[in-house]
Amino acid sequence: MKPIVIGNWKLNPTSLSLANTLYTDVQKGVARLTKVEVAVAPPSVFLSALSEKAKGKKTALVAQDVFWEKLGAHTGEVSNAMLSSIGISHIIIGHSEVRERGETDADVAQKVSATVKAGQTAILCVGEKERDTHGKYLSFVEEQLRTALGGVPKAKLGKMVIAYEPIWAIGTGETATPHDAHEMKIFIQKILSDMFGRTALREVRILYGGSVKPKNAEELFVQGEVDGFLVGGASLKAEHFIEIAKIVDGV
Ligand code: PEP
Repeated sequence: MKPIVIGNWKLNPTSLSLANTLYTDVQKGVARLTKVEVAVAPPSVFLSALSEKAKGKKTALVAQDVFWEKLGAHTGEVSNAMLSSIGISHIIIGHSEVRERGETDADVAQKVSATVKAGQTAILCVGEKERDTHGKYLSFVEEQLRTALGGVPKAKLGKMVIAYEPIWAIGTGETATPHDAHEMKIFIQKILSDMFGRTALREVRILYGGSVKPKNAEELFVQGEVDGFLVGGASLKAEHFIEIAKIVDGV
């Protein structure tokens, strides 16, 4: 499986013109990379315009969220089919900042299920608020995973990417150690294998996210043995994001 580096722009930048510039700079910077997939998740309002620039280029566009219903009285939401109609094939689901606003594990499960059924790729975020010494954080992540993946048919596993994002590391400058990231990857693989059989391990990429920067990317990638990164803050500076993608490409 090719590693993937995804930039989550969150509620940035402030205008379409700035989004255009950032997207174009990233596209140029990663154009020659061959051993890594690169994607960015701008705010949904910019996706349609940017998708025109995405055609035939290597930097895929990702939505930051989706709603599981196809249409109807759901103010503020966008559906899988709407995203598909403008060429969006990857969707972040269950980001901790969305969960924080009230999204439940059951909501995440419906979004994941609707996404893989629509033939799109779900980038499922899981991660604990804090680490304890009794392993409660492991049961927490296990519950998130088992609920979210409950409606995913085995045949659709190739449409799943899992991002381990410990909440305490998101936007804080703190990161999991490469050892912790690796341990969590193995833990996630154990659950996948338990739910779907060992072949699942060849299909699902497991990423790390949480204060990934150019200075820590190499050790997290090499020693953490993750299949790529979900990058927040550092994806807003084209040169930092490109450097992270180059590190992954070059290892
Ligand atoms: C994220 O938003 O998914 C994230 C990992 O943010 P940051 O890299 O800023 O911690």
